[in-house]
Amino acid sequence: MQDVLLIKYGELALKGDNRSFFENKLVKNIKSALKDFKEVKVEKTHGRIYVECDGDIEEVIERLKKIFGIVGITRAKKIGLNLEEIYEAAIELMREYQGKTFKVETKRSNKSFPYDSMEVSRRVGAAVLKNVKGLKVDVHNPDVLLNVEIREMAFVYAGVIEGAKGLPLGTNGKATVLLSGGIDSPVAAWMMMKRGVEINAVYFHSPPYTSERAKDKVVDLCKVLSQYGQSIKLHVVYFTDLQLEIYEKCPAKFTTIIMRRMMMKIAEKIAKNTGSMALITGESLGQVASQTIESLYVTNASVSMPVFRPLIGMDKTEIIELAQKIGTFEISIRPYEDCCTIFVPKHPATKPTLEKVVEAEEKMDYQKYIDNIEMEIIDV
Ligand code: ATP
Ligand code: MG
Repeated sequence: MQDVLLIKYGELALKGDNRSFFENKLVKNIKSALKDFKEVKVEKTHGRIYVECDGDIEEVIERLKKIFGIVGITRAKKIGLNLEEIYEAAIELMREYQGKTFKVETKRSNKSFPYDSMEVSRRVGAAVLKNVKGLKVDVHNPDVLLNVEIREMAFVYAGVIEGAKGLPLGTNGKATVLLSGGIDSPVAAWMMMKRGVEINAVYFHSPPYTSERAKDKVVDLCKVLSQYGQSIKLHVVYFTDLQLEIYEKCPAKFTTIIMRRMMMKIAEKIAKNTGSMALITGESLGQVASQTIESLYVTNASVSMPVFRPLIGMDKTEIIELAQKIGTFEISIRPYEDCCTIFVPKHPATKPTLEKVVEAEEKMDYQKYIDNIEMEIIDV
């Protein structure tokens, strides 16, 4: 008897001609996530993906739960074509569901098997009832569906573990995320990864106003994100000089928005150099002064690349919930300041106009700073 995991990947079915491209990418991503397990085999047959393993199946399931494109993971037993083995597998699987109702459903594509599917279901049901206490049959509305498939081998499986859903990473191009150490931007990055977008990251670092530990925080956030299927190139941009220049030359009420525009311009430059076709930020409408609709208009006008803001309509509590779920929250709340909190003006303009802001920022030669930006690249 061998443990097998059946991978369900719903949304991919909708993709018509692209289907095999998405499937192959998903198989590749699964193989890559499990590459350090020697006893694992990943296979695509009969429009399904099977993961066979002799190793630590719980650990394999944990890894699979982080792979985008997987809707559900089902634990199955792969066995020989005889009823005794089928009973044994069914009993073992159903032990997890004591107190529940169930129904057996059999599919027999191998017609040389001597019992038809009705007969198999009936017999397996009886064997399970006899050997696992507290189960009841309910053919109309069962809690658990116990499936038996008779192919060249027999498969028995029950229940579904929820997958990460979305689309396989790498099937939707590349984008550059402006990653601060805060709660929002890692969640924004994750949401785009979920749609198949590969990311790289830019962090604006302002030593000595921001500490080495603030930078470590961003590295750690990248580590968490990288568990979802890719290594991440983190561009640490040394931002202090430009930030001081803004602070010195521009009116206080506009410093935040001008800083945001400078970040966008630098990120766009990095994005273009790294094959990204969009920027990603963690902005959410109305959250702070720099995220009013007027401020977003002015920030957006600094670049020509599309800017994805997947959190735009979310409440802070919803963002926090997601941050906890994906594993970034505890890192994000570590108490080191970022460059924005240090240079925040007392009264930022909440309704800046583009003309006024552009006029203000032209008081400095920002292009000189952008052209000579100092940067460190960290592979996470
Ligand atoms: P976050 O929780 O992501 O830090 P925030 O609520 O603090 O966001 P802002 O400070 O207005 O909001 O920043 C808006 C967005 O700008 C962030 O979500 C992030 O994408 C980007 N950003 C801000 N500061 C930095 C930084 N130091 N480095 C990189 N990106 C940044
Ligand atoms: Mg922040």
